[in-house]
Amino acid sequence: MEAKTIVVGAGSSGAVIAARATEDAGREVLLVEAGPDYPSGDLPPDLVDGTRNSMRRHDWGHLHRARPGRRMLFWFPRGRVVGGSSAVNTCIALRGQPADYDEWASRGLRDWGWDACLPAFKRLENDLDVRSAWHSQDGPVPIRRHPASELVRWQALFLDACKALGFPRADDSNDPTATGWGPHAMNKVGGERMSVARCYLTAPVRARANLRIQPLTIVRRVLFEGRRVRGLEVETQGRVSVIVSRRVVLCAGATATPGILLRSGIGPRRSVERVGADPVMELPAVGARLLDHPGVAIFLRPRRSLHQTMRDPLIQTVLRYTSSKASSCPNDMILQPGSVLPLPFMTLPLVSLMCSVGKPRGFGTIEFTSPDPRVRPQIESRLLVDDQDRHRAVEAMRLAADLAETAPMRGEATFFWPPGRAVASETKMRTWIGRICDSGYHPCGTVPMGADDARDTDAATDGRGRVRGVEGLWVADASLMPTIPSANTNLTTIMMGERFGEWMKTGQM
Ligand SMILES: Cc1cc2nc3c(=O)[nH]c(=O)nc-3n(C[C@H](O)[C@H](O)[C@H](O)COP(=O)(O)OP(=O)(O)OC[C@H]3O[C@@H](n4cnc5c(N)ncnc54)[C@H](O)[C@@H]3O)c2cc1C
Repeated sequence: MEAKTIVVGAGSSGAVIAARATEDAGREVLLVEAGPDYPSGDLPPDLVDGTRNSMRRHDWGHLHRARPGRRMLFWFPRGRVVGGSSAVNTCIALRGQPADYDEWASRGLRDWGWDACLPAFKRLENDLDVRSAWHSQDGPVPIRRHPASELVRWQALFLDACKALGFPRADDSNDPTATGWGPHAMNKVGGERMSVARCYLTAPVRARANLRIQPLTIVRRVLFEGRRVRGLEVETQGRVSVIVSRRVVLCAGATATPGILLRSGIGPRRSVERVGADPVMELPAVGARLLDHPGVAIFLRPRRSLHQTMRDPLIQTVLRYTSSKASSCPNDMILQPGSVLPLPFMTLPLVSLMCSVGKPRGFGTIEFTSPDPRVRPQIESRLLVDDQDRHRAVEAMRLAADLAETAPMRGEATFFWPPGRAVASETKMRTWIGRICDSGYHPCGTVPMGADDARDTDAATDGRGRVRGVEGLWVADASLMPTIPSANTNLTTIMMGERFGEWMKTGQM
C-alpha cells in the first residue's frame, strides 16, 4: 500500500488534522488507528455516554505507579478507538490560560503564544451559550454549560459553598479574564459525548476521496532510508505489512508516540537499544519527561436528602482559583465536586471534592522495554514528589474541607475518607494526599517541541513538530507540549490539531 501522508492515531489531534488537511482536495491522507472505528453512528453506549468516562472497553490498559514506593495501579486510561481519548473522556472543555501559551512563546516557540492560538480555539468550537470576543459559533465541537436547572444537588451546593467562602462567580470558565465558580464548559450535548470522531469525522468528511481511515492497525515503527522516511511497518489483526510513504505525522498520544519513535531508532541511545532498534537519530528528549496533573480528593458520605443516584453526571461545576504558591499563571488550580462515584474498590455511594494541581513543577518518566507495541510502557508518574506541588495539593484539600463545612454543604454529607480528624491536621493531610493522589489523565510533554536554538536535551522537534535530524517525520499531538497547560488537555490538543491541519492544508507542512 502507498499513501502521500500518513497520520498515525485518530485521537484529539490526529482526527482533526486529517479532517482539516483534506478540506483541500489536493491533500491526500491515510489515517491509521489501532482501535476500532464506528463510522455509521452505531456507537457503543460507553462512547455515547458523556456523563462519565469510559474506562475499560476502549482502553490500552496501561499501569502506572503514581508515587515512588506505591504499587502499580491500573488507572491510566487512554482511548483506543477512532476518536482516541476524546472518545472516552469526561468532556470538560477548558482552554487553559493565556499565560500557558505565552510561556511556550517565551521559550522561543513564536507560533504558540496565546494570540496565535486563540483563533484556533475559536475555530474548533460552536459555543452554544456565550457570544463574546472569546468565542465562536462556527466550529465543529459544540460546547455548553449545565444551566442551574440541570445541576444535581451536590453540584448546586458546591456553587453555593464557593459563594459562601467569598469566591467570585464566573459564568464562562473559558473567559481568560474570569476566575471563580460556575458551570463547567463541556463538549457534551444531551448527555452525549462530542468526541473528535463525532464532530470532525462526519459522514461528508469520510466521503472525501482524499481521506482513507484504516482502523484496527497498530503501527510498529517508522521505516527509514538513511534519515529519510520511507514508510511504516504496521500490523493489522496479526498480519504485518509495510505502507510506503514519504510523510508521516505521529499523533498516537503522549504514551505511544515516544514508543513509536524509539522502536524506529529515534531517541536516547540507551532507550533505543532497550527496544532492540537500530539507531537512526539520537534525541535525548524523546520520552525523557512525562508531564501530568496530579489529582487529589476527599470523599464524603452523602445524606439521603442529597438524592444522589449512580446515573448522576459525574462533573458539572468547577472552582478555578490561584494557589498561594502559584507560578506566573493565575487560575492554576481546579477544584470540582464529583457526584456519586462508582469506585472499583468500594460499594458505598460516596461524593467527592477533587482537585487538580494545574502547573506542577514535578514530572514523571515513561520507559519502553520491548519492540512489541502491545507491551505496556513502564510509567512512573512521580506525582507530588516536588515540595511546592505537594504544598498546593494540601492547600487545595484544606479548601475542599472548608467548602464541605460551609452552611450549604455541612448538613448534606459527612467526611468519610479521610475521616474528619485527618482533614484537620496538616501532617495527616500530607500523608493522605501521598496515599490518594493519582493521575489527572492528562499525560503530555513526552516528545517536546522547542525553538531552533533549544538544547538537544530540551526538545525533540522544532516549533512545527518536525522531528530533529530526520526528513519526512512530524509529531503533532499532546506529546509536543513543552510545559503542561493549567487546565485539562483535550481542547489544547484539538487546538494543536487545528493548527497542524491548517498548515498541512495550506502546504506549510
Ligand atoms: C479517561 C480520560 C478522561 C479525560 N478527561 C478529559 C476532560 O474531561 N477534558 C480534557 O480536556 N481532557 C481530558 N482527558 C485528556 C484528553 O482526552 C487528552 O489529553 C487528549 O485526548 C490527548 O489527545 P492525543 O491526540 O494526544 O491522544 P489520543 O486522543 O489518546 O489519541 C491517540 C490515538 O492514537 C492511537 N494509537 C496509539 N498508539 C498507536 C499505534 N501504535 N498505532 C496506531 N494507533 C495508535 C490510540 O488508539 C488513540 O486513538 C481525559 C483523558 C482520559 C483518558
